[in-house]
Amino acid sequence: MTGGSESAVSRETGGVEDDFSPVPFDGLSAMDTPIGAAAQRATQVLHPTEANALPKPRERRVFTIANQKGGVGKTTTAVNIAAALAVQGLTVLVVDLDPQGNASTALGVPHYSGVPSSYEILLGEIGAAEAVQQSPHNERLFCIPATIDLAGAEIELVSMVARENRLRNALTKEALGDRDYDYIIIDCPPSLGLLTVNALVAAKEVLIPIQCEYYALEGVGQLLRNIELVQSHLNPELHVSTVLLTMYDGRTKLADQVASEVRSHFGDIVLRSIIPRSVKVSEAPGYGMTVLDYDPGSRGAMSYLDAGRELAARGLEEKQGNE
Ligand code: ATP
Ligand code: MG
Repeated sequence: MTGGSESAVSRETGGVEDDFSPVPFDGLSAMDTPIGAAAQRATQVLHPTEANALPKPRERRVFTIANQKGGVGKTTTAVNIAAALAVQGLTVLVVDLDPQGNASTALGVPHYSGVPSSYEILLGEIGAAEAVQQSPHNERLFCIPATIDLAGAEIELVSMVARENRLRNALTKEALGDRDYDYIIIDCPPSLGLLTVNALVAAKEVLIPIQCEYYALEGVGQLLRNIELVQSHLNPELHVSTVLLTMYDGRTKLADQVASEVRSHFGDIVLRSIIPRSVKVSEAPGYGMTVLDYDPGSRGAMSYLDAGRELAARGLEEKQGNE
């Protein structure tokens, strides 16, 4: 755990990471300095009170994080939203369905070839509970890792019975055992192949991360058409419930243009919280950590914490709205 005061202090410079910092001057308390404020935020993150714990959803929510465009922040979003929910009192399982195994790495979970993983559960060789590992940084955060063996699964699955339903059939409450997961978050590879289709069949909700860069919406039409196909043929409950803007750089006009284009395209399902481009966010996986563990007082950690709160609150609204 790097939650000590040193790691709690964001050392980043430049406009993006500095926005939180009040200008210190004589007569203010330690908490009014940038370092003090970051430390205070870190303390709040690491020691949430009952008052700011998130409400449990009335039923388990299963999210697939999908966008066939590579490098848009799918994995970063999967692990950091999961950590944000877990740190605020909920029990969360991340299913790594990408042979790259980046989500497993970021959660500090071993995923060398031969470790019980999403590959064996897709093939039906083991039950899901046997592949679950606890992330070393949070007692409520769990992961079914992906090993390189999964790279062959796209092809192996083709000839299998019920090939699109294998993940759903593997993630039943019975197969997952006694632990009461509030959220399951599935991280997809950057393709629309059978692994992503399995993830879409296993979930009720899709979260699409969109990078605030050129060509942000490129390929999103194709993704939405695939989601519709899965919805009409395999999983009628599936819907895109959430869009998250990632890697936002407030210093560029382009980021604002992309953000407003995405908001006008998707409307209310776009979270108000935006994830800034942040060196801390990109450094964290190198230490086998989410940004919430690596630098809990940083802007990146705060933004994922906010996104997690918003997502949890919206789930309750959606539920009430349907009643
Ligand atoms: P892939 O399609 O390969 O699975 P992905 O969509 O999962 O990629 P990530 O791996 O989450 O994308 O992110 C791509 C790269 O961008 C990574 O190096 C990650 O550390 C970095 N990154 C993600 N989010 C941010 C951010 N908010 N600020 C800075 N870097 C980021
Ligand atoms: Mg990824």
